[in-house]
Amino acid sequence: MATEPASARTSPALRREAQTAMYQRALKTLPGGTDSNFRAWGDDTIYVDRGKGGRVWDIDGNEYIDLRMGYGPVILGHGDERVDDYVNERMRRGVSFSLTSEDEVRAMELVKELTGWVEKVRMTVSGTEATMHAMRVARAYTGRDKIVKFEGQYHGVHDYALISVAPDNMADLGDADAPVRLAWGRGIPDAVADTIIPARYNNIDALRRLFEARGEEIAAIIVEPVLGNAQGIMPKPGFHKAMRALTEEFGILLIFDEVKTGFRFAKGGAAEFFGVTPDLATYAKAMGNGYPAAAFGGREEVMSVLPDKVSHGGTYAGNRIAAAAAVKTLTIIKETNALEVIHATGRRVQDGLREVLNPTGLPYHFTGHPSMFGIMFSEVEASEYRDWATTDHELYDSIALGMHARGAMPEPDSREPWFFCEAHAEGDIVDRVVTIFSESLDAALEARAHGQAGEQHHIGFGAVGGQP
Ligand code: PMP
Repeated sequence: MATEPASARTSPALRREAQTAMYQRALKTLPGGTDSNFRAWGDDTIYVDRGKGGRVWDIDGNEYIDLRMGYGPVILGHGDERVDDYVNERMRRGVSFSLTSEDEVRAMELVKELTGWVEKVRMTVSGTEATMHAMRVARAYTGRDKIVKFEGQYHGVHDYALISVAPDNMADLGDADAPVRLAWGRGIPDAVADTIIPARYNNIDALRRLFEARGEEIAAIIVEPVLGNAQGIMPKPGFHKAMRALTEEFGILLIFDEVKTGFRFAKGGAAEFFGVTPDLATYAKAMGNGYPAAAFGGREEVMSVLPDKVSHGGTYAGNRIAAAAAVKTLTIIKETNALEVIHATGRRVQDGLREVLNPTGLPYHFTGHPSMFGIMFSEVEASEYRDWATTDHELYDSIALGMHARGAMPEPDSREPWFFCEAHAEGDIVDRVVTIFSESLDAALEARAHGQAGEQHHIGFGAVGGQP
C-alpha cells in the first residue's frame, strides 16, 4: 500500500481543525491517539461526535454516510430509538450484579430461536472473548490442542487468533503449499502460536491432506464463513459442505465465527445462508446494534463441558445493557423485515455501482453479501486471502478516501467491506452513495492518469496494517 498521502484532510470539503487538535491531545494519553490500532489513522484519525441512522458526524461537523457502521455491529442504525429506549428502561433496574437476569435468558433464547440449531449458548462481552471460549470448549471436548484457521481471517485480539491475519506482503505467509504461522505483532508466545495451524481458504484438497497427516492433533477448524476481514471473499460453491463432511470424517469440530455474518446474512446467519450446521458458533456485532453483546454456543453435547469442565466467566458477561440490547435487536430481526430491507438496500447500491463501473471497462467483482460487500478490482474473482495482493487495491483505497472527502465513509482499506444497516434505506442515501462513488472514481482515475498515487492512507500498526 502506498503510504505518502495526498490525504483526504487536504480536501477543501473536509474540516479538520477540531480533529487535529483532538489528535494532538489524545496522542499524549492514548497510544496512537485511539483505543484500537485499527482506528489509528495517523493525521487522518477521525474523532466522532455522533451518529443517527445511517449517518455519522465528526467533531468538526463533517457529515458522512456511514458505510463502516462500527465494523458491522450497527445493523439497524445509529441511535435506534426502539433499542435505545428499551436499554434505557432496563438499565434503570441496575446494570451489573454478577447475578443472572431474565434479559440474559431471553437474549440467549432468541439466539436459539433465530439460528434454529444452537442448543446451548452463553453471553460474552466481545467477539474476541466469544472465539477464545469457543476454541477452549473445542479443545476441552476433543482433548486435542491444535486449531486450524484460514489465512486472512480475523477472530479477535487474543493470542490464539492473531496468526496469519492480514499481512500486506503475501510472502510473509510462506509457500502456498506450506503456509507458515505468522504472528501479528510481537508479544504472542511461540508456544501459543504453535497451537494454530494456518490453512488456505477454499482449498479442500489441502485441508484433506492436512487432516490425513495431523488430524489426531486437531480439535477444530475456526472459519469466518466468508472472509469478512478480507473484503468478503466468498466460499466456492460447496466448500462449506465439503468442509463439514471432512471435519465429521476426522472427528474435528467446525466453528463458524459468525461475528460479522450472524443475524446479518440471514436470521440464522451464515449457517442458514449456506445451509451448513457447524458444531459451535460465535456471535457479536449485529446481535446488539452496537452495544457490546456477544455469545458463543452450539450443540448441546459439545457445550456440555460447561459449566463443570471448562472455565468461562466474566464480570460483565450478560450485563444488563448488553443483554437488553440483544433482546430488543434480536426481537426486531426476528419479527420484522429489517434484514430484507438491508439486503435490498445493498443490492440497490450494487446496481448503481454497476452502472458507474461497467462503462469504464475496469475489471471488478463484488465480494461478500449485499449487506456486507467489497469491491475488488481484478480480472479473476479472489478465492483466498493471497489473491487480494493481485487486485488493484490502490485504486480502491484512493476511491475510498475520495469518498470521505465527498461525504461517505467506507473503511479506507479495501479489506474491510461496506456495511449496510436498516436506516440506509431512508431518504436518498443510496443515490448519494452511488454519486459519491462515481465522483471519487473519476477523481482517482484522473489522478492516476496524471501519474499521481491518488489519495492513499496507511492503516494499522507499521508493517502489519489491516483492520477487523
Ligand atoms: N471475529 C470476527 C469475524 C470479527 O470480524 C471480529 C471483529 N471485527 C472479531 C471476531 C472480534 O470481535 P471484537 O472486536 O468484538 O472482539
